[in-house]
Amino acid sequence: MRYNQPMRAIHLQPQEAAESKRSLLDLSREELTEYITGLGEPKFRAKQIWDWIYKRYAPDFQAMTNLPKALRERLSQEATVQPLTPVTQVVSQDRQTQKLLFALPDGQTLEAVLMLYERRRTLCISSQVGCAMGCTFCATAQGGLARNLTAGEILAQVLYFARYLADPSLEPALRVERPTTVTNIVFMGMGEPLHNYRQVWTAIRRLTDPDAFGLGARHITVSTVGLVPMIDRMAEEGLQVNLAVSLHAPNDELRSQLVPIDQRYPVADLLAAVERYIARTNRRVTFEYALMQGINDSPELAVELAQKIQHLLCHVNVIPLNPIPGSPFQPSSPEETERFVGILRDHGIPTTVRLRRGIEINAGCGQLRRAVAA
Ligand code: SF4
Repeated sequence: MRYNQPMRAIHLQPQEAAESKRSLLDLSREELTEYITGLGEPKFRAKQIWDWIYKRYAPDFQAMTNLPKALRERLSQEATVQPLTPVTQVVSQDRQTQKLLFALPDGQTLEAVLMLYERRRTLCISSQVGCAMGCTFCATAQGGLARNLTAGEILAQVLYFARYLADPSLEPALRVERPTTVTNIVFMGMGEPLHNYRQVWTAIRRLTDPDAFGLGARHITVSTVGLVPMIDRMAEEGLQVNLAVSLHAPNDELRSQLVPIDQRYPVADLLAAVERYIARTNRRVTFEYALMQGINDSPELAVELAQKIQHLLCHVNVIPLNPIPGSPFQPSSPEETERFVGILRDHGIPTTVRLRRGIEINAGCGQLRRAVAA
């Protein structure tokens, strides 16, 4: 699928920091209870607020109609359930993909992308502002890491789109049929999620908690560039979250040039960690492979990749590169892509080519943020 029509960008508000208030999304259920009872309110008010946030996607305290007016007023003064301010919205021509740039209370920005499919509403979210991993082909890498997101800021991305999809007043052209909520979440936006492990897993626990957002763990994918100790830690979490590994090259000579973390965790160590993850969780792992013309798309590399992973319960997702303006890395042609994929399949490796969702809306991670900042 190609998206080459002009994009439509809507600047929602001037880019300014959201007012800094206490985000209730950063509180566990116990902490929320403590906060609410500390205001002199009975404990059951905390449960009501929790349900409004995670079950009914309330955008603010005024919508929480079973709370006393005075409490709603007080909470509105000092707290928030939406710490993100949407700044720019870009919608693809076919209306099925949209990207939001959000401002954080400290003025930093982050991106999230919603992709509508027939039965899925997949949300790609960010885990950090910027990224420290320095992958040479990536827009996010170019500004380095600004800071980690809190669990509440990660959850806020999901809740924003959950509200959006559930909104009956949605513009007719964007209105979605059922399901009207986020059904799949991928940590493939800005940042390396396993480099912000604690906050990401706090968010995942809340997303999968049946008494909170209640999403099945199998509907969540964590994508890592290969932080080996954290993959081992993730295997012990006891949740059937999907693991995706951004491999991009089958040997250290090439991979270390594309993905600098390879120098610390070489391919052999990474594949050994993936093998342990599969043994522990019995989950099929996805290898992400961004095809770059003349860089990592040769038939020889396809054979080498196939030979190194064919003993694993895995799947390869070939991604046509989202080109960054001014970057020497260009996407492989459809013929080169087909040749690469054909070799993997001939070796018995299940392989798919990711739809080019959002090419014209700068949907590669970090691209909209850079475009707006430029
Ligand atoms: S590709 Fe992912 S891990 Fe690498 S720099 Fe970009 S955001 Fe970070």
